[in-house]
Parts: sequence; C-alpha cells; structure tokens
Amino acid sequence: MRLSRYFLPILRETPKEAEIVSHRLMLRAGMIRQEAAGIYAWLPLGLRVLDKVCKVIRTEQDRAGAVEILMPTIQAADLWRESGRYEAYGKEMLRLKDRHERDLLYGPTAEEVVTEIFRASARSYKDVPKNLYQISWKFRDEVRPRFGTMRSREFLMKDGYSFDLDQAAARHSYNKVFVSYLRTFETLGLRAIPMRADTGPIGGDLSHEFIILANTGESEVFCDRAYLDMPVPPPSVDFDDVAGLQGVVDAWTSHYAATDEMHDTAAFAEVPEANRLSARGIEVGHIFYFGTKYSTPMKAVVTGPDGQERPVHMGSYGIGPSRLVAATIEASHDEAGIIWPDAIAPFDVALINLKVGDNACDTACAEIQAALETAGLSVLYDDRDDRPGAKFATADLIGLPWQVIVGPKGLADGKIELKRRATGERETLDPVDLPARLRRI
Ligand code: ATP
Ligand code: MG
Repeated sequence: MRLSRYFLPILRETPKEAEIVSHRLMLRAGMIRQEAAGIYAWLPLGLRVLDKVCKVIRTEQDRAGAVEILMPTIQAADLWRESGRYEAYGKEMLRLKDRHERDLLYGPTAEEVVTEIFRASARSYKDVPKNLYQISWKFRDEVRPRFGTMRSREFLMKDGYSFDLDQAAARHSYNKVFVSYLRTFETLGLRAIPMRADTGPIGGDLSHEFIILANTGESEVFCDRAYLDMPVPPPSVDFDDVAGLQGVVDAWTSHYAATDEMHDTAAFAEVPEANRLSARGIEVGHIFYFGTKYSTPMKAVVTGPDGQERPVHMGSYGIGPSRLVAATIEASHDEAGIIWPDAIAPFDVALINLKVGDNACDTACAEIQAALETAGLSVLYDDRDDRPGAKFATADLIGLPWQVIVGPKGLADGKIELKRRATGERETLDPVDLPARLRRI
C-alpha cells in the first residue's frame, strides 16, 4: 500500500481529551475517531489491527472446538423477559421500540439469544457438548465511557457460550476456554493472568477474569509473581484430554491472584514477600460457569442417556478485541509511539523513501515493495514528498515492526537500512537479501 493513496489522518497535536497513552496514540496515529461519547469509527490502520486480533481469537477458538455463529445486535425484549433479565439489567441496556411499539434492545451480551438458538434444535445428550461463539458489536450505556476504546459504549466482543449435560462436562468446557484464552493472549504478545472473579449480573459460582498488568488499568489487582513466567500450553495441547486440561487450569490457579473485589488480605500475606505483586490491571477477558441459570427458565433441555429431560449446564466466555487493541498499546509503546507485536501489526514493514522523485530511490522502493509483498509481507510504502524527519516520526508513531529506509547515499553503495522498531537496532544490507532476512522472524 502506498501511503499517498492510503487514508491515515495523523494528528500533529496531542489530543487534549485523551487521558491515557493508548487513547492518545490511537487518535494521533489515525486509528480511530470518536463520533459520539464512547462511540468510535475505526479508520483503516485501526481496523487492520482489530481484524488481526479477531483472527488470533478465531484461530484459538476453532482449535479448542468452538463453532462460530453470528447473532443479531438488535434483540427482542421478550427473550430477556423469559430469563428475567429485562427489568434487572438497568440503565446500561439501550432499549428501543420499533414502529409497532414492540420493545427491542441493542444487545449488551447474548445469553438469551444463544439459549433460544440452542433449545430450538437440541433434543438429547447427543447434541452436547457445544460451544457457540460470535465476534460482534455490543452496546452498554456505560456511566463513564473513557480511555477511548478501552471503555467505550459500543465495543467489539467475542462472546462464546457452552452447553453441557452436567456440571462435570461443563467444567471441561470451561477449562477448554480457559486454556484457549491463555493461548490467545500469549499469541497476542500479552501476559494475561487469570484471577478469581465476582460473577456479577451474569451469575454463577465459577469465574475468572484475565488481567493484563498496566499502570493505567482500572482495577487494583494482587497476585503472585510466579504468574509472570509460567509457561503457556503449546498449539498442540489436546483439548479432549480432560485430566490434562484440568492439570493446566490447576497450575494456572495454584498461586494467589485476585482483583480488588475478591482480594483476601490474609491469603495474600501468605505469598512469599518477594513474590507479592500489587498492581493495576486491565480486564481483557472474563469467563463464567453458571449452570442452569438460563436453561431452567428458558427451558433449554436435553434428555440424558436415561431418557430423563434436564436443563443444560452453561457457561459464557468473553474477550474484548477493541479493548485489547488499546491494552496492547498500554503494554507496548515508547515516547515516539506504538510498538506493535508482530502478530497484530497493521503492516509488517514501513518502507521509507528518503528522496521521492530520485529515480534510483523510486525504482528501488517499487522493487522492494513488490519483493516483500511476493514474500507474503505487508508493506506501507511512504512515497509522499515529505522531509525524512517527518517520515521517521510517522513510522515510529504507527509502530510497524520493521522500517526499511531507502536513500540515495546508501543506494550508491547498493545498500539500504533496516530498523527494528522495538529495539531501535539497525543493520545495512543489500535489498535482494531483505525478503529472506525478514522471513526469518
Ligand atoms: P468491565 O468490568 O471492564 O466493565 P465487564 O465485566 O462488564 O467489564 P464482561 O461482561 O465480562 O465485561 O465482558 C467481556 C469482555 O468484554 C471484557 O473482559 C472486556 O474485554 C470487554 N468489555 C466489556 N465492557 C467493555 C467496554 N465498555 N469497552 C470495551 N470492552 C469491553
Ligand atoms: Mg467482566
């Protein structure tokens, strides 16, 4: 992609309304634009990152055996009356009426809809286990939308729902998601710590929040440092191995970790002092087992092998991709701008032409772009007629993992420069060696 043809509305000034670094950088780098309080448009650079986050989530969900669907964002109030949550949910729910004065709502979550879908076809124990997930926009009329896409009113959520015959089977479904979340955050380049959590309005008795440590996090958290370097299961982990997965979950819940609401000072005091970590954290995922809370009132039943009907045991599992984009920046930036982890960078390479209009530079850049794209790398080519300083600043701000710098001096010796954004390390090399050099990452 040539920058001259792209849409990258960089802001020169630091936006005043942005209180935290990720919000500032997302606005400055032209990733998002606020259209109303807590409601954002995703511009091309931001959308590329959001899509990549979703791709990582999908890969790990599919690996764990979950099946993707897409439910409507507008839901019928009557379904929520069946579960009893329509009145209970409060002002966070955006309520609407259609032309026939029927009550509708913009979904803040989808337990009711998915339960309705499941019960319509499920008959017996042969129809479970199932885990259905979607990635879709949610609306919650938050009291205090702030921090950009970190806490917005309209936001993207991956929400998954599991259906099982009994509690033991539901526990295995819970564990599958637990492990798939560990893998998801690891692939995104983030260390997320599962912490025992309050179940809130969704209800239930088994729940974990996945928390990333960051100074600007909204929750106060307490945990054992052991979590910081605990190994995450590899892609080959067997999701059907009931005991094996329980072992992973046991290990990942064996040390102290709790948010403010669940904090137990006495238990924390038993953690060896050198390992005691109290910090701020960002919730990026949340999982619940809530048994038959929805299946009982909504009559989502299956017959067991004994022919007896029973309500299915359910769990629900959420990750916030739009919050994750901001959380990643909180965890990975410097004074000059964003530093994207390779897995979710909007492009792999920033190609910088230091002298647009110079025949040798223009030709070399066009060839490099073509060669890198053929090698499967994505390139944002800065072909604008601008000062080198401004181009370097843009490249650092938008944080692509690699910068390839092409100037007349270097080219005279047949060389270009390669800079790794994260470390600032530079090397000079022959342009023909570039695709092979970058493929080694
Ligand atoms: P929080 O405690 O931060 O308000 P929540 O507990 O209400 O979040 P869940 O219902 O557990 O959120 O939603 C699952 C995931 O969706 C969260 O872990 C988070 O990543 C994301 N999410 C929730 N609310 C928002 C929001 N207002 N803006 C962006 N992402 C959100
Ligand atoms: Mg939560």
